[in-house]
Amino acid sequence: MPLTLFNTLGHEVQRFQSIKPGALGFYGCGPTVYNYAHIGNLRAYLVHDILARTLRRAGFEVTHVMNITDVGHLSGDNDEGHDKMVKSAEERGKSVLEVADLYTQAFFNDTGRMNIERPTIVCKATEHIPDMIALIKRIEEHGYTYFAGGNLYFDITKFTTYGELARLRLDDLKAGARIAVDENKRNPHDFVLWFTKSKFENQALVWDSPWGRGYPGWHIECSAMSIKYLGETIDIHAGGIDHVAIHHTNEIAQSEAATNKHPWVNYWVHNEFLVMDRGKMSKSSGGFITLQTLIDAGYDALDYRYFLLGGHYRSQLQFSYTALDGARNARKVLGDRVRALADKAGAPAKNVEGKAKIYLDAFNAALEDDLSTPRALAELWGLARDSEAEAGEALAALLDMDRVLGLRLEQEMVRREKAVEDPALVAEITGLIAERLAAKKAKNFARADEIRQGLKERGIILEDKPEQTVWRVL
Ligand code: AMP
Ligand code: ZN
Repeated sequence: MPLTLFNTLGHEVQRFQSIKPGALGFYGCGPTVYNYAHIGNLRAYLVHDILARTLRRAGFEVTHVMNITDVGHLSGDNDEGHDKMVKSAEERGKSVLEVADLYTQAFFNDTGRMNIERPTIVCKATEHIPDMIALIKRIEEHGYTYFAGGNLYFDITKFTTYGELARLRLDDLKAGARIAVDENKRNPHDFVLWFTKSKFENQALVWDSPWGRGYPGWHIECSAMSIKYLGETIDIHAGGIDHVAIHHTNEIAQSEAATNKHPWVNYWVHNEFLVMDRGKMSKSSGGFITLQTLIDAGYDALDYRYFLLGGHYRSQLQFSYTALDGARNARKVLGDRVRALADKAGAPAKNVEGKAKIYLDAFNAALEDDLSTPRALAELWGLARDSEAEAGEALAALLDMDRVLGLRLEQEMVRREKAVEDPALVAEITGLIAERLAAKKAKNFARADEIRQGLKERGIILEDKPEQTVWRVL
């Protein structure tokens, strides 16, 4: 099956083809580290993770690059408002770099707990200022910029395909534009490449540049770092759907203006939003839920991962605790099933054939069809529930599926060793042993056997000794 992806550029599902055979470069916009990631942001990174894992599974060597925004991102993506990092540092009484370190670590702690693999290259904006300056110089040399009020702007009217990604029309852009807050802009959709005077007073981090001492606009970092690590034409670029109209539209304009290469990115992949009952989840609105909020409420980070896999990345997904309960429960049943298969088979089969293979093929096809994780999960459950599939093969296929799903099913196989530490489970087993003894005394051997068998399926073995029944974990 060929791998297909919905490409925002072109608005259709397309067969994926890499520039170089067998290898590809993938850039995903990373976090602005002024606060904890909320669970909506984590949806974006889970999608990047599933994309990278699916591409690797399909045989590609994937270089996945992610930036860390620690300078230049204003509260409005369109150069409006205050610098998010500076404001956060002021509020917390810390330096910008301290805030960046704190939330970068928190970010990787969250993604680690969700079993989101670390990108191949993680790059910080503040460590790439010379690359940004070099790229801006190229844009300037090609005649796309103007200097006004102390800032260097990108003139979108010079870039004839501006807005192609978002299917924006320049006439609409002008007519529908909000009143420009920045009177230096010739067109409201022009954007800053380099700030000096404007919003400058409290800027903690500034650098010398050909346009004066200052700091970069937000969009230029992604162009500069992706080009540095992945070259001037890139296979895949991903981010949230909110980035289509401004951030990615501007990234394209800058990169293509600098390199004269069109298209700069071959496939644009955008994830839809996680939404709350009350609408959009954002860092500034009330519904700010972090992964830690869920963990404090007794959930496992993988329950949230499972919940996210249940939605297709191009559909909005509504968060609710009821849905998260469902995910937790499903994960528990799945874990029990994996343990039961492990007990039955002893070990996963070396080769997957027969019935299990049919599910595994359908699972791969679902993922390769524009990353359909809901259909992939349905295939996983089909196999988990199919008692006719040979146990060792079923187990091997489930573990193989988990290389993409990332639910740590392998750990479920060993979790039973920890069961003895769980007092509720010990009490339950002791109670069942007493019930079985009573059933045997009453000559209800069917019930006694049922209890023994039920426990065995959960990895608990009963042994009848002369004076008592003991149990052990398989
Ligand atoms: P930020 O840290 O604000 O730059 O956002 C990080 C990533 O999260 C970006 O790719 C956003 O598009 C994405 N994002 C923001 N809010 C949501 C949401 N509610 N659901 C899914 N993705 C989101
Ligand atoms: Zn970006």
